[in-house]
Amino acid sequence: PMSAKIIDGKAYANGLASKITAAVPSFNTATGRLPGLAVVLVGSDPASEIYVRSKVLKTRELGMRSFEHILPSDTKQEDLLRLVTDLNADDAVDGILVQLPLPKHLDENAVVSAIDPSKDVDGLHPENAGRLTAGLSGLISCTPLGCLMLLQAQLGDLSGLDAIVVGRSILVGKPMAALLLRANCTVTIAHSRTRNLPDKVRQADIVVAAVGQAEMIKGDWIKPGATVIDVGTTRVERGGKKKLVGDVEFEAAMQTAAAITPVPGGVGPMTIMTLMHNTVVAAHRRSRLAVPQ
Ligand code: NDP
Repeated sequence: PMSAKIIDGKAYANGLASKITAAVPSFNTATGRLPGLAVVLVGSDPASEIYVRSKVLKTRELGMRSFEHILPSDTKQEDLLRLVTDLNADDAVDGILVQLPLPKHLDENAVVSAIDPSKDVDGLHPENAGRLTAGLSGLISCTPLGCLMLLQAQLGDLSGLDAIVVGRSILVGKPMAALLLRANCTVTIAHSRTRNLPDKVRQADIVVAAVGQAEMIKGDWIKPGATVIDVGTTRVERGGKKKLVGDVEFEAAMQTAAAITPVPGGVGPMTIMTLMHNTVVAAHRRSRLAVPQ
């Protein structure tokens, strides 16, 4: 039986990390400062705390400045908006990341829209989402950007390939589809109301799964030779052990796909590194320096 290549997201992220650590000193020489990322966490959601901590550590590890703002869960909307306004005005801050989800009483859309689009390293501001669809330069949502990098590393030019994105969230599905379209793929966007999903997946040279339902995409839906990017992460218990699984039935898909990302170790490590990449990009653009390739 065939066996797909496992796309090593960790290794690719390490390669991206070397480029970032190389770009930081020259940025420092040109500007007299370091690229800076501000992370804002409201409340004490355990998963969010872990994400924020790893972002802070990675920022420092790559030689950049990290600014952390940990606010109590009863923070008022106006106080959060004031913090965002202050960070917008702070020249030492190139990137602003407000960890989502926010506590229920806060308006996420209003907070994200308050971020200066040139510092919106999560790519979630409507201006950056619009720029991506309009074909203008902007900051691109980290997870889809990481998926695109993995696809291009695997396949080179994506022109003319049939791609399906399963999931249409603002965070992953929609920007992923826009990026694939920009890369000249023919793109299908599937979601919970899609009919005959298996048949649609069977047509695709590229499958990006961003649903969040354990192994819902079956191995025999995968076209022979397809490249599979599995964004989904679901915690399950198997044989008494806690385990993280993707949206794709991994072992079965290995039999038909040409290449596939594992969960964990595929998209996850790329997501944090593209955040670092976006911070470097934002820093260079804000200082009118050429963005290192
Ligand atoms: P959302 O819950 O916001 O979106 C899920 C999407 O899947 C929706 O568009 C939904 O459709 C669609 N969907 C749900 N059920 C089905 C179904 N049966 N068939 C087809 N489509 C379906 O999730 P996110 O986009 O934020 O995240 C998706 C997954 O990716 C999650 O598991 C998340 O944890 C993971 N993730 C991983 C990251 C990483 O770095 N590894 C980063 C970000 C996310 P509809 O719109 O119709 O409701």
